[in-house]
Parts: sequence; C-alpha cells; structure tokens
Amino acid sequence: LSRIKETEPKLNAYITVTEEKARKKAEIADRELEKLQPDEIPELFGIPLSIKDNINVENVRMTCASKILENFISPYDATVIKRLREKGAIFVGKNNLDEFAMGSSTETSYFGPTKNPWDLERVPGGSSGGSAAAVSARSAIASLGSDTGGSIRQPAALCGVVGLKPTYGRVSRYGLTAFASSLDQIGPITKTVEDAAYLMNIISGQDSKDATSARLPVPNFLENLNNEIKGLKAGLPKEYFVEGIEPEVKEKVLDVVRKLESLGVEIEEISLPNTKYAVETYYIIAPAEASSNLGRFDGVRYTYRAKNYENLIDMYCKTRAEGFGDEVKRRIMIGTYTLSAGYYDAYYLKAQKVRTLIYQGFEKAFEKVDFIVTPVSPTTAFRLGEKTSDPIKMYLSDIFTIAVNLAGLPAISIPCGFDSKNLPIGLQIIGKAFDEVTILNVANILE
Ligand code: GLN
Repeated sequence: LSRIKETEPKLNAYITVTEEKARKKAEIADRELEKLQPDEIPELFGIPLSIKDNINVENVRMTCASKILENFISPYDATVIKRLREKGAIFVGKNNLDEFAMGSSTETSYFGPTKNPWDLERVPGGSSGGSAAAVSARSAIASLGSDTGGSIRQPAALCGVVGLKPTYGRVSRYGLTAFASSLDQIGPITKTVEDAAYLMNIISGQDSKDATSARLPVPNFLENLNNEIKGLKAGLPKEYFVEGIEPEVKEKVLDVVRKLESLGVEIEEISLPNTKYAVETYYIIAPAEASSNLGRFDGVRYTYRAKNYENLIDMYCKTRAEGFGDEVKRRIMIGTYTLSAGYYDAYYLKAQKVRTLIYQGFEKAFEKVDFIVTPVSPTTAFRLGEKTSDPIKMYLSDIFTIAVNLAGLPAISIPCGFDSKNLPIGLQIIGKAFDEVTILNVANILE
C-alpha cells in the first residue's frame, strides 16, 4: 500500500485502491496466522494482489475504465477471485485499462492513461496496462489481466514483466466483463514465470458457471517448471520476422533462439501463411461480439443514465452517447454493421472461415514442433499520443498476438532484454492447446 502511494501520482496504474478493506483483511490474517500450523497455511495467505478493473470483486467498484460504469459496485466475485480468496489472497485494488479492454495503450481509459514505469512519457501497452505497470513498478506483487487480442502479453512485454494468456477454456470467464466472448481469457501478470505458474494452479479449471470452461484435469504447473527441454522442437514462423518489426526487437528475439539451440532445442523454420489476415479477421469478429455484449449498458440496469431525455429510446441513445468513449463507439458501429442482414455473409461469416484457416495453420505447425517462438510486439513502448489519432496503426501493434486468440491457444510473454533506449523487449512462446506446461517450462528455463 505504501508503494502504491509512492508510485501512483506518476503512474496512474490503479482506478480504485481498496486500502481500508485490505488493511482489515490483513489484520484478520495476522490473528489467524497465530492459530495455524505451518502445513495449514493456504497458498496465498496474506498475499496482496491487484486485479484489472474489468473483473468483478465483490463489493468493490468495477468501472471497466468507462464513464458508463463509473459508480458500479460488483455484486459478486468472479470465479478467479473466489478461488484466489479461498487460498488467502488479499485484494488491494483495481488496475487501469483501456475502456472495456479495447486498446493497446491504456490511453482510452476514462480515468486517464497509465504511464510506463520505464519511461513516463511512454505507454505501458494495453489493455491491461495498469496491471503490467503496477507489477513492473512493484506497486503490485502480481495481477490478473484479460487477453482478447494481446492485452496481457503486449503490456507485459512493454513493461518488462511476465504475462500469460491461457488456452481458451482453461480459466473461467465468469465475472469477467465480456468484450469478445469467443476470444477473452483471464491470465496472470507477474514478476516471474514461477509466480505465473503459482497463480495458474489456483485459477485454472472447469467451472459450472462458464459453459466454455474445459472439463480437463489441471496439471501442476509449478512442479513442471524445471523439466528437461533438450530434444524439444521450436518453430520459428517466417511471417513473424518481416516488415514493421524494429531491428533491435528482432535481434533480441533471435538471441533467445540461439540460446534455445545451445540448450539442445531443435529450431525449425515454419510457416503460418494466414497470419497476414489475423488483424483483419479479429477486427470483424471482436467488434461483432462486442456490439452484442455491450448492448446491456443501456441506462436501465447499470449505474450511469443520461439526465435529460424525452422517452425510452432517447434515454438509451443519450446514455450510450454520453457514457461510452470514442473507441468503444467505433467498435459497436463496426460490429453492428458487420452483423447486419446485408453484410453478415460478406464479413462475419467470411471472418469465421478465415479464423478456422488460422487455427488449422497452427495445427499443422504443431505436427512438427512443440512450441513456437515469436516477438510479442513489433516495437517497444511507444510515446503517449503517438498512435491515438490513427486506429489502424494502433491495431497493428497486436499483429503478433492476435492470431493466438483466434486459434484459442496459450501463449506467454517474457522479458528478453532491452533496446538502446533502455526499454524492455518481450518474447512470445506459443503452445499447443492446453499445453501451458511446456510454455511455462521453457519460459522458466530462459528466464
Ligand atoms: N488491442 C486489442 C484490441 O484493441 C486487444 C485488446 C485485448 O486483448 N483486450 O481489441
């Protein structure tokens, strides 16, 4: 809490700090500790965590960084929160994000942008920029983010911390405010790979409240962090090392590839030919789902309502016009358009087909390799305001992360060095579906 006080005036990584609640919980924990035998102490006993502000924590405000939810108090715990609480975690606050997780820089937040702790004139990435900045600046021990197209991995890379997007279905989405339901996953943002494995052990697993959560046993991620990697095969997709990528980013990623080779990993060049359609496909599917999911914010059930209106329709319109920011409105309009009767086949249906091709491309690659290595982001942290006026430029910063969501695969971002401006560079390791064990294992050995 004192570190939050120290860093917040500069960073703005939190929307809400639940100081009083956290202190009370800590005091109770202190008293309980005296009564517990060492082997009875729950895994996260007294450990303070921060949470992206689109995940429900009971009786705490959840804004999704939007004016439309400015005063919304969560009536219940998300499943991930319930599981962490049962293990003794204490929640210290809610982290800033792009409004409704739509963005790559945390600049679309109604509560102002978060700054990158490595250079306060630069963005922390997004949309989980508050979580990544907090972990990086040590104003959080660890945080949970959400990743729809790169929102855990890209800010982790730009802030020099670890971020894991689990396989779609590995972690319950119950209590995560839906952006694009077929792509969203909750995952850890941490200082170390070990911490990520620690949290994954707790948050993973089937949940009756999320019909898309997978009925599969959860391996012990912590116990598999130091397995032998010699003899594994790593794929290097040639489409990920071309135009637009900063030379220093490429260089550092290739350094890691050489290191893998020296550890006995076989490197194979692979091709993921449909990667070039990933951003376009995503920007049909994600807005389509968002336009439907955000229909619930109509001024009736959730806090903000316009003051002056003439009738019900006028109330809906004014509430949404006043409550949503520009990027959210842009997505709702794109989504409504691509789902409309005359355009559904041409856009939405076609995008679904390309999505299948992208998935099949990964399947084919994974016949030959055990994991895939790529950069996380083509650039290191960019300047505040540098891309806000050009949405396409902003969308392209997720070019290396988006295909993974379309295919539902797990991927981890780990720090792999710095550029000449002393800004962190991230490395992405993509795994087979439900094989987080391998990517955590490889990441841990590289760390
Ligand atoms: N930057 C991407 C977008 O704006 C991804 C966001 C996310 O993963 N939540 O949609």
